[in-house]
Amino acid sequence: MTFRQDHLLGIESLAPDEIAVILDLADSYAALNRGPEKHAAALAGLTQINMFFETSTRTQASFEIAGLRLGADVMSMSMHASSIKKGETLIDTALTLNAMHPDLLVVRHPQSGAVDLLAQKVTCAVLNAGDGRHEHPTQALLDALTIRRAKGRLHRLTVAICGDISHSRVARSNIWLLGKMESRIRLVGPPTLIPTGAADWGVEVFHDMAQGLEGADVVMMLRLQNERMDGGFIPSTREYYHRYGLDAEKLARAKPDAIVMHPGPMNRGVEIDGTIADDINRSVIQEQVEMGVAVRMAAMDLLARNLRARRAA
Ligand code: ASP
Repeated sequence: MTFRQDHLLGIESLAPDEIAVILDLADSYAALNRGPEKHAAALAGLTQINMFFETSTRTQASFEIAGLRLGADVMSMSMHASSIKKGETLIDTALTLNAMHPDLLVVRHPQSGAVDLLAQKVTCAVLNAGDGRHEHPTQALLDALTIRRAKGRLHRLTVAICGDISHSRVARSNIWLLGKMESRIRLVGPPTLIPTGAADWGVEVFHDMAQGLEGADVVMMLRLQNERMDGGFIPSTREYYHRYGLDAEKLARAKPDAIVMHPGPMNRGVEIDGTIADDINRSVIQEQVEMGVAVRMAAMDLLARNLRARRAA
């Protein structure tokens, strides 16, 4: 089993064995991260630049920590303060940074496809940290690692992805990944927040939350992505919580040992009840954050190996 990619732009282009390689390596980094000495040298001598054109808490912090723990020189650029504000295009900014010889470029951008475009213009490895509503590959990988550690496997599980599917890159990357790993995927949400044609993605669609959660092994909640909404998609947040917010009554329809996930940021009382989010017997939300660092270490390590091999050839 080998990891054959030059970049990590999405889950769509990964083969199941490549996903397994990332998760296996991430498992060993998760062990390192729990130990007293959190250092390895996989990225020693390399430069990692993080360019975030959209706000981020977890993703940016964990990419930074991941790079530092692996010995890279890490720089995070605040794109609000950059030349983008002066009218420079994304590509010109990328070419400018490329001239400084980075090895890993981590990019988040509000436009779907922007990170793929950028990867074609630079000579280093590019990691997509979320592009518009398109993909968020490291989120799906950390979700998969969290599920695999909790359930012991990724195949033959019933995973309910609930809420604002339409605007969610997390949903898209998870649908790719769980589909490749032969899990059964259910999309649960109001008709206004599930794209027409979603039923053709190899998933089941439910507009009734209780039915959608019936017998599920994993309940993955999503935030209402208001920043990507153009107009009103729900009658009110109160009504939305009543019908689609995860509370104890709705969760009781899932398997007794079902786990609850959320990529964050979480809006308590909108898509999830705060008590469930904090219930250590059901919620794996903090583990997701923990696995985020391990998965990003693994992804950057594997890309750096390929980069070094290409340069040496
Ligand atoms: N943090 C995730 C993302 O960047 C989910 C969210 O923002 O709701 O897509």
